[in-house]
Amino acid sequence: MTHANDPGSAASASGSRKTRWLRRVGLLAGLLALLAAVAILAPPLEHFMNRVEPGPLPEVSPQAARLHDAAFVVDLHADSLLFGRDLSRRSDTGHVDLPRLREGGVGLQVFAAPTVVPLGMDMERTSSNALDMLDWAGDLLRPGLGRSSPMQRALLIAQALEVLARESGGRLVVVRSREDLRELREARSEDPGTVGAVLAIEGAHAMEGDPDNLQALFDAGYRILGLTHFFDNAYAGSAHGEAKGGLSPLGRQTLAEMQSLGMLADIAHLSPRATHELLDQASTPVVFSHGGVKGTCDNTRNLSDAMLQRVADGGGVVGIGYWDWATCGTAPEDVARAVRYVIDTVGDDHAALGSDYDGGVSVSFDTSKLSVLTQAMLDAGIPEPSIRKVLGENALRVLDLGLPWEGDAKPASQSRNMPARRGQRASAG
Ligand SMILES: [Zn+2]
Repeated sequence: MTHANDPGSAASASGSRKTRWLRRVGLLAGLLALLAAVAILAPPLEHFMNRVEPGPLPEVSPQAARLHDAAFVVDLHADSLLFGRDLSRRSDTGHVDLPRLREGGVGLQVFAAPTVVPLGMDMERTSSNALDMLDWAGDLLRPGLGRSSPMQRALLIAQALEVLARESGGRLVVVRSREDLRELREARSEDPGTVGAVLAIEGAHAMEGDPDNLQALFDAGYRILGLTHFFDNAYAGSAHGEAKGGLSPLGRQTLAEMQSLGMLADIAHLSPRATHELLDQASTPVVFSHGGVKGTCDNTRNLSDAMLQRVADGGGVVGIGYWDWATCGTAPEDVARAVRYVIDTVGDDHAALGSDYDGGVSVSFDTSKLSVLTQAMLDAGIPEPSIRKVLGENALRVLDLGLPWEGDAKPASQSRNMPARRGQRASAG
């Protein structure tokens, strides 16, 4: 038994106080070092991940500028919300922010949320068990991501968009329904700088296996969902996965519930087998939000002619990306060549834009310079009415068919019982 008056015990008590104090100082220093690392490393990390290649861009003719300015431009995929950068302010980092969207004449931007980013992502073969880079570097991108689960990350990103829209003074509006889409068109006729935003999920693993989380994602504003991202998951095989299988029963159930809720299916990143199985089951047009076609760039992630034909037969759209894996080149003419290929193969109702801006890609132009693409499409001999469709009309058509009516935004269990009502309204609209 020790006694308080025992000199040995007093010394050990003051020693443990000192240790506790040192531990606290150490913890505080560690926390400060972490915050400093976030502040110092985050901008260069994003700068390194989402580069704009230096070099001259083609001149934009008055004809192209006029055509571009008059068009309703839609981009089907950007990952900008993964990064904590203030998107209300113009930046030299990355590819997208609100001022640059306005400058580039973009009327609607789809913001995607990747929720797991496997270490050593490989286009041909990525393991489902790879370490998740967001676990250890997520906080460097957006504070809070690292400590969150995939579902929490999706909600965090949706919340970030809400805040951005709320503080934008009406310059950015979140589109969740067909009514919102109509209101966006009206707002743009008064202020052509108004930008709409639609939320998308890259990979149903964000749901963490809980079917109820689909409703939670829908309630958070998500309206487009791709069943897989870079690896095979419990829902479907990925184009980059190890097994590259089809849709699982869970994937099929999720797709059915998505469609009855009013969420569009994104087939980008799906394995070929999963793509065909999804197209077998899809009752509304699908989007291939970002990528390319094997016809101009033959690799694992791009659409074969057969898939392209099936997407078109179902009334869907193919968003052509602006980076190397999508078009085997990053020049505007590489993108225009892929667009031209889609038009030549399945007609001009199915080509669209899907930049993959801020998705860890290098591009030759950011969104503020988007009219170079209109110029490149004119140079590729694509007629003006077809260019307007590619720039946005095709994507708007598919969104308008896939989004819910406001009154239908209710739990999946209820809306599942009302297919006729949705169908009637769809034909009326
Ligand atoms: Zn992607």
